[in-house]
Amino acid sequence: MKLLVTGGAGFIGSAVVRQAVRDGHEVVNVDALTYAACLDNLTPVSNSPRYTFEQADIRDRTALDRIFENQRPDAVMHLAAESHVDRSIDGPGTFVETNIVGTYNMLESARRYWTDAGRPAEFRFHHISTDEVFGSLPSDPSVLFTEHTPYDPRSPYSASKAASDHLVRAWGETYGLPVVLSNCSNNYGPYHFPEKLIPVIILNALAGKPLPVYGNGANIRDWLYVEDHAEALLLVVSKGQVGRSYNIGGANERTNLDIVKTICKILDAERPKTSGSYAEQITFVADRPGHDARYAIDSSRIRVELGWRPRISVEEGLRRTVRWYLENDQWWRPLLARTGVGERLGIKA
Ligand code: NAD
Repeated sequence: MKLLVTGGAGFIGSAVVRQAVRDGHEVVNVDALTYAACLDNLTPVSNSPRYTFEQADIRDRTALDRIFENQRPDAVMHLAAESHVDRSIDGPGTFVETNIVGTYNMLESARRYWTDAGRPAEFRFHHISTDEVFGSLPSDPSVLFTEHTPYDPRSPYSASKAASDHLVRAWGETYGLPVVLSNCSNNYGPYHFPEKLIPVIILNALAGKPLPVYGNGANIRDWLYVEDHAEALLLVVSKGQVGRSYNIGGANERTNLDIVKTICKILDAERPKTSGSYAEQITFVADRPGHDARYAIDSSRIRVELGWRPRISVEEGLRRTVRWYLENDQWWRPLLARTGVGERLGIKA
């Protein structure tokens, strides 16, 4: 299959591109290379004849029309987005432009290309979204997000993703574009941009800095290892039923504090301090406004219909992730310096 992947230089997109090329697909990666992108994420595939990179902004409709026309993909996997909740609180405008208007442009370019090609039934437009569109869950462990949970986004980020989900569904219903959607829980793993919780904790710990935990650390997330997610996405785009959405979760509910303590334990074993534990660096900081209490996913639909299940437990995934950051400072040091994130976190790049 020839896949047009947007956001392929980001965290999840690059995992999808690496896996798709490994699986024998042709991949065209369309990415504007914002602060969140890193082309080094693609080093394992960048010399493959099955991989092409097109630098373009999804807010630029003319560029998208040209790429569809020249590349003629069999399917689109649309991941390009502004993705960091804290940044959406500080500056929501870019989230509206990229996540909503950018998705509208992608849909219109795809629709034009698909219509000109005679509306092939096998074409797919796969929109990659988040469980944050469903809002926040109570602590009762029997209550999970299903594909039928009503939308209730609560941050500018989740509202922009909810809006883009609605556009994608509308283009399916109104124009017959063969769309499929997926909503996943929090991803983690190698190549995660160092402003998200898990890499921030690992890098702050190594730098001897405080390990910031929002509020009392009781917020619960369902952690999904990024390579498990990439595998699920490739199944959804190739075998998912048109018009359907699939919830994808790791079945790994943990509080933020549990995650931080587990990382400290792994670091204590892998890179022991001269005295004491990394856990002594844990510091509680003022909570994020509108911080959702709990996300947890019911993945039965993708498990039953497409035979997917997550392979990596959160303990194993965290061990792999910590080791990856310990062994790959040549990846994160330049990124911290180039994006100014190192200075913001007080970590020397
Ligand atoms: P990321 O921030 O790591 O990467 C986003 C990529 O999109 C970057 O390479 C960036 O350059 C590109 N991009 C941003 N704006 C663009 C634009 N205007 N034009 C073209 N490219 C642009 O994001 P991620 O964590 O890999 O997330 C990928 C997708 O998955 C997003 O749609 C996100 O909403 C969704 N998602 C992520 C998570 C998670 O835990 N990371 C969870 C659920 C859903």
